[in-house]
Amino acid sequence: MNMLIRGPEDEILKKEQAFRIIRSTINEKGREALYDLTGLAGGFPIKKEDKRLLETYIGPAIYEEKLKRLAVEHLGGEEVIAFNRTTAGILATIIALTKPGGKIIHYLPESPSHPSVPESAKVRGAEYLEFDNIKEFYTPPGTKLIFITGATMDHKIIEIEEFKRIISLSKKARIPTVVDDASGARLRTIIYKQPKAIELGADLAITSTDKLMNGPRGGILAGKARLVKRIKSVAYKFGLEAQPPLIAAMVRALEEFEPTRLIKAIKLRDEVYEKLKRSFKGFQKTPTGVMIRPEEIKKEIEKRNVKTRLSPQETSYLWAMLLLQEHGIITIPAAGMPGASPTLRLDLSAPDAQRLKPDQITRILEETFQKLLDTIIEPEKAKKILGG
Ligand SMILES: *Cc1c(COP(=O)(O)O)cnc(C)c1O
Repeated sequence: MNMLIRGPEDEILKKEQAFRIIRSTINEKGREALYDLTGLAGGFPIKKEDKRLLETYIGPAIYEEKLKRLAVEHLGGEEVIAFNRTTAGILATIIALTKPGGKIIHYLPESPSHPSVPESAKVRGAEYLEFDNIKEFYTPPGTKLIFITGATMDHKIIEIEEFKRIISLSKKARIPTVVDDASGARLRTIIYKQPKAIELGADLAITSTDKLMNGPRGGILAGKARLVKRIKSVAYKFGLEAQPPLIAAMVRALEEFEPTRLIKAIKLRDEVYEKLKRSFKGFQKTPTGVMIRPEEIKKEIEKRNVKTRLSPQETSYLWAMLLLQEHGIITIPAAGMPGASPTLRLDLSAPDAQRLKPDQITRILEETFQKLLDTIIEPEKAKKILGG
């Protein structure tokens, strides 16, 4: 049970506190004092000549066509639509392809799902079932849509055999499949050399242009023209589709996307991981970085004979806040949206990671962990750090 962060509202307060620290760091020391290691870039690489074309009707006329060409190259499929966020694309897909009372089945390499899938199912009044064990996976009668997550929020990657198995089951049952490939569209294909989701037989795939590429926060959905058309009509009805400035930035981000940057991160990751092993048992490698789960943080704390009433999740939030406060390192447990993963993950493919040396990263984690031990025995102090 959490005692300090009791729900989404407290998570918002925590995020706002993180934003206050980011603001004051920028004002006092400048952008160079911050290191965004979330792996979410928020890049907006439009060019000067794009700016005068960003109008309501001229913009889409120019950029939607370019986007289609680039997105089909990136994801495969026949037709595409860009969304304000991946979450918006998932909501539109669920509204378009299911009805109240229908069933949505989700397979992912490890639960929990990104909140966008179960929350959209709830809004739709659809039943939602989640599996992370292929042996248990089945499609009950009344299943209208199957989701597959290619890479989880913690960057756990689906096994290719599992992927193929679900596609074959869905084809037999004639149920459309959507792949939530928010980060997977790059992690799976570039690091793990898996085929694109659509090449593997998925009907639809959605990715986030913010993840592991220098694009804006937004989602691109691609796939069968017949399904994309239905999703588009829902998107326009509810205002979920991306607007011209966002589409132009997505186009530029896809144009300049460079897979080798992800490959290069692997070396830095391995160095950091080896050094971290000297002080911590609980860190794990991710495809492009390192992470420690809340339960592992708890073990590290217990090993040092420190007792706390804070939950493992809260110790992760707190460590993330200390990293931000003391060293300007931005991670998702500090700055993420409500429902984001509480795992403390450092993405070393992030542009800011290039300014940090492996020794420096290790030292910062050791120092802030000592501070964490001092803080968790004083819940009042911890509360102040989390909420200001
Ligand atoms: C990030 C992510 C999303 C949501 O993306 P947003 O653009 O933030 O809405 C959905 N699913 C997975 C697996 C993700 O990692």
